[in-house]
Amino acid sequence: MSKEPSFITKCVHVGNGIDKETGSIRRPITMANCYRLPEDASSINWSDPNQILYTRNTSANQLYLQQRLAALEGGEDCVVLASGVAALAGVFFTFLGSNSHVICSNVSYIAVYRLLNQYLPDKYGVEATLVDTSDVEKIKKAIRPNTKLIHVETPGNPTTKISDIEEISQIAKSIGALFSVDSTFASPYLQHPLELGADLVVHSLTKYINGHGDAMGGAVIGKKEIIDRIKSEAMVNLGGTISPFNAWLIMRGVVTLPLRMKQHSDTALEVAKYLEANPAVKFVAYPGLESHPQHDIAKKQMKMYSGVIAFALKADSEIHNKFINSLELVVPAVSLGHDESLIVYTGPDDERIDFYPEEFRDGYIRFSIGLESAEDIIDDLKQALKKCGF
Ligand SMILES: *Cc1c(COP(=O)(O)O)cnc(C)c1O
Repeated sequence: MSKEPSFITKCVHVGNGIDKETGSIRRPITMANCYRLPEDASSINWSDPNQILYTRNTSANQLYLQQRLAALEGGEDCVVLASGVAALAGVFFTFLGSNSHVICSNVSYIAVYRLLNQYLPDKYGVEATLVDTSDVEKIKKAIRPNTKLIHVETPGNPTTKISDIEEISQIAKSIGALFSVDSTFASPYLQHPLELGADLVVHSLTKYINGHGDAMGGAVIGKKEIIDRIKSEAMVNLGGTISPFNAWLIMRGVVTLPLRMKQHSDTALEVAKYLEANPAVKFVAYPGLESHPQHDIAKKQMKMYSGVIAFALKADSEIHNKFINSLELVVPAVSLGHDESLIVYTGPDDERIDFYPEEFRDGYIRFSIGLESAEDIIDDLKQALKKCGF
């Protein structure tokens, strides 16, 4: 093609090709731990993360998926790992060490909180400051001479808080720190952190990118030189490699990413508006609502607002639990970004409750809107609310 194909075309074609052996127009799943060595193996780099030799170093299906995800984020290269947490840990273990300092969103994925707030400081002497990254002044105040990394999650899990990627990238550049963005909630269809100045984009592929709730994976995308370091240090030598089967499943899932993200976003906005207008509801946090505190930043940096809503009822934990268990269509389960709607209630005993916005502190619901019709989802909410006396 003479011009760069559009995003939706890349989702279908990049990384696919004709199988040389069978002529199949889909590349097969290659489930093998190792590959025939050349007759003269004297010049082989046994730990080359870009050569198919031993599946912990990389596999054919992993390479195809990396190619596709790099193209979707507009990055030079990508590393795919066994889970989103393996990808995040890959970034932290590679770029942080004793006496280095990291600034991170104070409410982020729970494993990020534990890695940066407990394990890395306690075991390896990393210094971490957790701040509300939706406020750039707080980031500026947290800077130290040894700040090596700024890591934000936007939209944040579970608060849906938005951080301004472009502004934070300016701060990171001015101090020579790396800037990584966990863009899992947005997916590459709704937000392009690299274009806005981030150095690294991280995804849990388990969520929207795979989209079907049947495979786990994680990815980091950025400049080749940076990604190669993560491949060597955190994949080959820590071993969180993805299975070729999961890489193949995710490759298949991502084909429909644009269609799914539009549907998730449209339905979530409708459900969020329904909840906001309902007198049983204490608060609703959804970046697409004008009442969201960072709606303007979301509007600036996102195409649509994705499928996760946080809210609470004017009720105690017992009623919240009853509400969740009264739902007939929506499934009570963790995770998000699947085809089916998922819902989970967290009570006020969460270990980070003090970091949450005030309205979350008595307990909140995280609601991942699936691909069912808005009408059916809202009907399900209505009947469950009724059973709870609302
Ligand atoms: C789920 C999630 C992760 C972790 O991904 P896993 O694939 O479960 O390891 C990281 N970040 C965000 C924002 C997530 O929602």
